Amino acid sequence: METILEIRNLTCGFQNQPVLTNVNLSLYPGQLSGLVGPSGSGKTTLIKAILGLVPPWAGEIWFRGKRLKPGTAPPKVGYVPQVETVDWNFPVTALEVVMMGRYRKQQFLPWSSRRDRIMAKALLERVGVAHIAHRPIGELSGGQQQRVFIARALVGEPEIVLLDEPTSSSDLRVQHELLHLLAELNQQGLTILLSTHDLNSVATHLPWVVCFNHSIIAQGEPSDVFTPAILKETF
Ligand code: ADP
Repeated sequence: METILEIRNLTCGFQNQPVLTNVNLSLYPGQLSGLVGPSGSGKTTLIKAILGLVPPWAGEIWFRGKRLKPGTAPPKVGYVPQVETVDWNFPVTALEVVMMGRYRKQQFLPWSSRRDRIMAKALLERVGVAHIAHRPIGELSGGQQQRVFIARALVGEPEIVLLDEPTSSSDLRVQHELLHLLAELNQQGLTILLSTHDLNSVATHLPWVVCFNHSIIAQGEPSDVFTPAILKETF
């Protein structure tokens, strides 16, 4: 089967300090996988490297059989940042946040066509938060913000979505609702990679996990991979 995304021998870091060393990872269309590792293990850096935001020192990233130029994002990728790292100090509604996903390069409002607005509304509906479309994003709960960002990632009609710690700031119920939503989107054909340091409530509910600590330690179904030896090496 053809991979959707392939990372080959990727090494990169900051100020001469390597963060990723020799990472090899293949993701296949339709997978729902978790990148599981402790804080500081380089999960965000790996996601940013896939997006072309952290330049590689060595190695290659391939999308659907084509090598990406270093520093460029794959064409059909959606990204959901870690919600608590986003600081909204100006009033933008949930709907406007979603519409921003239509315009990669455009920076200023207003920009929306009727079609964009309709599409953004439909996506808020799809992720279950249509009722908060006109509320300022900063006033929403973490779980609601998360869904708005997922809608924003979907608005570009991606084939794969990368989510950085989507469950880290939420309580158990919200985490499980989010995992349920992601499983539903996955069943509709979306390939998903999410990072998490939460071994108990998140990772065990995913069909495929990749144990990660600066490089790939093991991957497979949680019941096969979460052995004492592998967990000790990862955490
Ligand atoms: P995780 O997402 O697993 O918590 P990160 O990728 O955020 O890990 O961080 C891995 C390491 O890279 C940490 O030691 C962090 O301090 C370092 N790092 C991340 N971003 C930068 C940056 N922009 N400049 C310097 N060091 C960074």
